[in-house]
Order: sequence, then C-alpha cells, then structure tokens
Amino acid sequence: MHDVLIIGAGPAGLSAARWCDELGLDTLMLELSEEVGGQLLWVHNPIDNYLGLHTKDGYELRDRFVEQTKDCDFDLWTQVEIAGVDLKAKRVVLRSGEELQAIAIIIATGLRRRKLGIPGEDEFAGRGMIESSADRQAFAGKDVCVIGGADAAAENALLLAEVCPTVTLVHRGKKLRARREFTEQLHTSHCITVFPESVVRRILGDDHVEAVEIERAGAIKPFQMAVQGVIVRIGFEPNTDLFRDQLRMDDRGYVIISSQQETSVENVFAVGDVANPLSPTISSAIGAAATAAKVIASRLVR
Ligand SMILES: Cc1cc2nc3c(=O)[nH]c(=O)nc-3n(C[C@H](O)[C@H](O)[C@H](O)COP(=O)(O)OP(=O)(O)OC[C@H]3O[C@@H](n4cnc5c(N)ncnc54)[C@H](O)[C@@H]3O)c2cc1C
Repeated sequence: MHDVLIIGAGPAGLSAARWCDELGLDTLMLELSEEVGGQLLWVHNPIDNYLGLHTKDGYELRDRFVEQTKDCDFDLWTQVEIAGVDLKAKRVVLRSGEELQAIAIIIATGLRRRKLGIPGEDEFAGRGMIESSADRQAFAGKDVCVIGGADAAAENALLLAEVCPTVTLVHRGKKLRARREFTEQLHTSHCITVFPESVVRRILGDDHVEAVEIERAGAIKPFQMAVQGVIVRIGFEPNTDLFRDQLRMDDRGYVIISSQQETSVENVFAVGDVANPLSPTISSAIGAAATAAKVIASRLVR
C-alpha cells in the first residue's frame, strides 16, 4: 500500500513526485514509456517560457527536471503497462498481473498526438511515416506529404522543405490556421504546395510509403500522389481511455477537476495537460502537481 500512485512521468508527474517526496508521502510513479519526460521529448526548439530556465530543447529541460529529482525518495517504474484501474478503490492492475494499491492517485497521463485512423497510418510506422521532422535528414531528396492545417503542420512542412524537393501540405479547412509567420513562409517557398479543403483517405505502398490518396472538395474522384514520406500533425488528445466511465470528463475526454485538482472521485487528482485543455503548458503542469500533492498531504496528516 502506497500513499500515492502517480500515473505518467512527464513534467506534471515529475513535479508531483518531487512534491510528494518533500511532503513525506510514500510514492510510486508509473510510466508507460522507456523514458520519463512526456512531450518534452518531442520539443526540438529552445524552451524559453519556463521561468528561471532557458534550454536548447525539451530534452535538456527534461534532464534538468530529472537532475532535481534524483535524490528524492520515490519509486519510479518505467515501461509499465496498466491493464486496468479501479479509481474508487484506488487500485491499479498491471499487464504483468501485479496489483497496486494507494490512498490517493494522481493522473498525469498528458496528451498523445491525434491519429487520422486511415488505412496505412499504422502499417507504415517506421517505413515512411515520419515521426518528427527532427529526423528529416532520413527523408532528404524524397517527396513528402504533411497532413494538418495549424502551427505544427506548417512548421513541419517548412522544416522538411529544407531537405525535400517537394512538400505537399494537405488540410481540411479553407484557410490554414497556422500563425502568420509560418503561412507567409509557406506561400513563398518554391517546393511547398498547399491543398486546402482536402483530405487524405489512404496511405499506400508495398513495403514503404509510396503514395497518398487525396480527396479534394469539388473534385469528382480521389487521386493518388506519389510520396515517400508522410507526417500527420492534426492536434492532440488526452490519454484518458483507462479512466473512461469512472470520472467526469468533458466531451473531448479531458478530465474535469476542482480548483484543488481533484476529480469527481475522492482522492483521485488529475494534473497537467490531461486536465487542462485551455493552457497546456509546462508551468501549468508543474504548478498543478504541487497543488495536488499539497492537498493529499494535508488529508493524510497522521
Ligand atoms: C512540440 C511541442 C512544443 C512545446 N513547447 C512548449 C513550450 O515552449 N512551453 C510550454 O510551456 N509547453 C510547451 N509544450 C507543451 C508541454 O510539453 C506540455 O504542456 C507538458 O509536457 C505537459 O506535461 P504533462 O506531464 O501534463 O503531460 P505529458 O508531457 O504528455 O506527459 C505524460 C506522460 O504520461 C505517460 N503516460 C500516458 N499514458 C500512460 C499510462 N497509461 N500509464 C503510464 N504512463 C502514461 C506518457 O508516456 C508521458 O510520459 C510543447 C509541446 C510540444 C509537443
């Protein structure tokens, strides 16, 4: 029996663990991935809006967070697959069969990239599906397709255009939703073509990605375009599948919390992006975790 089980070791989970340690709570943190850090591991640009620190990328900030927790007395298990959770009973069952019990649970599972859910998307993972434009050198000299119409899609198109002869940006809307700084560069780039009001229906290929099938508004039928790489940037969604039907969520699956970060289940808290659709930021995640830990500690005074 632990005082606190923290699910997720991104900035929110790490901050919660740090605070739980400081407040003398016996804590176990469970992380699905091999590495802690969550979305910080996807940030390849400098981070300069987290007060007090300026880092060249998310990895460096993650390392600073880890450095600050290394002397803390909490347990961290990585590569843990949770098979089921009973929030009312504060019980977590792992895929390995092990059962864990706590007095309080902190949900810090953050966000994942939204998928298109089209044929080929999963099948070509690692075989033409581009995880991050930080890996763009692997696509140098290849024609690629970027799917999405906001900042992340526009930024990735611009980065890929540094090494790819053609980049086609396909998005649903009439107009791009990206910031002006990006759209201006997109429209002046010689190798980027933007397809508005268009949808990719399938990703095709044999062993690797070879083409995408695109449906354009007003066109009689879909057409195929040869590409060797595809990157999908259509937003994020909260990692809350595990908790569905056990606590209150909004219609997009974000956990609804009180001002004390508590969910609709007593002694179950949610911190960070998973409960913050309005301002998903590192500072909000760090602060929310401190609040949850303090509330738990105040209730567990023995
Ligand atoms: C490209 C990019 C740039 C960004 N730039 C900035 C910036 O400049 N400034 C800023 O403030 N914010 C920025 N952000 C946002 C910031 O990274 C997030 O707000 C922050 O990481 C949220 O932390 P979190 O711990 O709530 O969630 P996450 O970082 O999403 O971490 C959640 C963790 O939970 C784990 N997890 C999920 N499901 C389970 C499960 N079932 N079991 C166990 N573990 C699980 C995940 O593996 C992950 O490690 C950026 C994000 C991106 C993607």
